[in-house]
Amino acid sequence: MKRRIVLLGPPASGKGTQADRLSTLLGIPHVSTGALLRSECTRGTPLGIEADSWTSRGFLVPDELAIRVIMGWMGEHGTNLVFDGFPRSVPQARQLDAALASVDAPLDLIIALELGDAEILRRVTSRLTCLNCGATFSTSLHGLAVKNPCLRCGSPLERRNDDSQEALEQRMKLYRELTLPVADYYGETVPNLLHRISADQPSDAVFEQITKFVHHSDL
Ligand code: ADP
Repeated sequence: MKRRIVLLGPPASGKGTQADRLSTLLGIPHVSTGALLRSECTRGTPLGIEADSWTSRGFLVPDELAIRVIMGWMGEHGTNLVFDGFPRSVPQARQLDAALASVDAPLDLIIALELGDAEILRRVTSRLTCLNCGATFSTSLHGLAVKNPCLRCGSPLERRNDDSQEALEQRMKLYRELTLPVADYYGETVPNLLHRISADQPSDAVFEQITKFVHHSDL
C-alpha cells in the first residue's frame, strides 16, 4: 500500500476531494498547502497575511514560504501523507525529494489529474468553499449560494477570493508555466510512480482509478 502520495492537477480538478478520500482510505493525513494558507489567513497571522497578498491575485506564494509551511507540517505529522497542492513548482519538488530522501522515505505514488480549460472555468466559477472545514460545493450541483450553511460543518459558505475569473486566469497561466513541469519532472526522475488520470469524469470513477494504483505495487 502506498503511503507518500502526491496529487497534481489544475485548479478544481478535484485534488482536495480525492486527497480527502485517500486519507480516509489509508488512515494517513492529507495536507493541502492552499488550505493551510487560507487557515493562516482567516486567523490573521503574519504568514497568512503575506500569503493572501499573493494568493488573492492568483499568484503562487514564494517557494520559500510554501516549503516552510509544508516542512513545519511534516515535522508535526510525519512523512506518511497525501500531498495536495504541493509541490507546485520544480524547485519545490526537488526540496521535497531531498527532505524525504534524508529520512529514507521517498514518494511512492504521483497522480497527475488532467482537466480542460473550459471545465476548469465552469467548476471554479460555480465553486463555494467552507473556510472552516475546507469542504467545497457547487452552486449548480448542490443548489447552494454564498452564506448558506456548509453541508458538512454548518459554517457559512464563501466564494474564495482567488476564484474570480481574473485571478483564475493568472492561476492558470502560472499552472502552465510552473506546475505542469512538475509532472514532467517526476516523469523523468521516477517514471514508474507517475500516473496521469482524466479528472473529467465523476469523482467516484476518478477515485476508483487512483485506488488501483494505491493497492498495486507493480503498477
Ligand atoms: P487550487 O488547487 O484550486 O488552485 P489550492 O487551495 O490548492 O487551490 O491553492 C490556493 C492558492 O494557494 C494557490 O493558487 C496559490 O496561490 C497558493 N498555494 C497553494 N499551494 C502552494 C504551493 N505549493 N506553492 C505556492 N503557492 C501555493
